[in-house]
Amino acid sequence: MKPLNESEIRSSIVNASQGEVLRMPLPGLHEVLWGEREYLGWRDHKAPLRGYLVHWLDDRPVGIVLRASGATMRPGISAMCSLCRTPQPAGQVALFSAPRAGQAGRDGNTVGTYICADLACSLIIRIIPPASALPLDPAEIVARRAEGLLSRVQSFTADIMKTA
Ligand SMILES: [Zn+2]
Repeated sequence: MKPLNESEIRSSIVNASQGEVLRMPLPGLHEVLWGEREYLGWRDHKAPLRGYLVHWLDDRPVGIVLRASGATMRPGISAMCSLCRTPQPAGQVALFSAPRAGQAGRDGNTVGTYICADLACSLIIRIIPPASALPLDPAEIVARRAEGLLSRVQSFTADIMKTA
């Protein structure tokens, strides 16, 4: 993805109040490997259930605030992130809900989905088994996963921005 700066990130948030956006902590942007990201996602260290996700939609950054469910899934079962579709141990996937943009969100209307708990789908899709076990070139596999991830992230935020 194209790099984002602090003001782009703060002005991208579509589903939070101005106060929430001002209080939002940012990750270390200079440490981000932008070329290996489909979206930028991070958890809030001061409010651990809170998370943030920003991606580009054409030339416009779109960001959302998410809240993780405090409930944990039964250990031992596996769960799948709806964005990167990677099956993982249940503890590494969390149910997140995002308020809808605008009045609907202020009225308590949310959209929920299972996402990698650390909001780092871009890292996990780049982990691939040894090349000998693969039917395709590893770079091709990552490119396909990245394309799927980006399109699912875009439809998730499109759903949040949809006005009823
Ligand atoms: Zn994921």
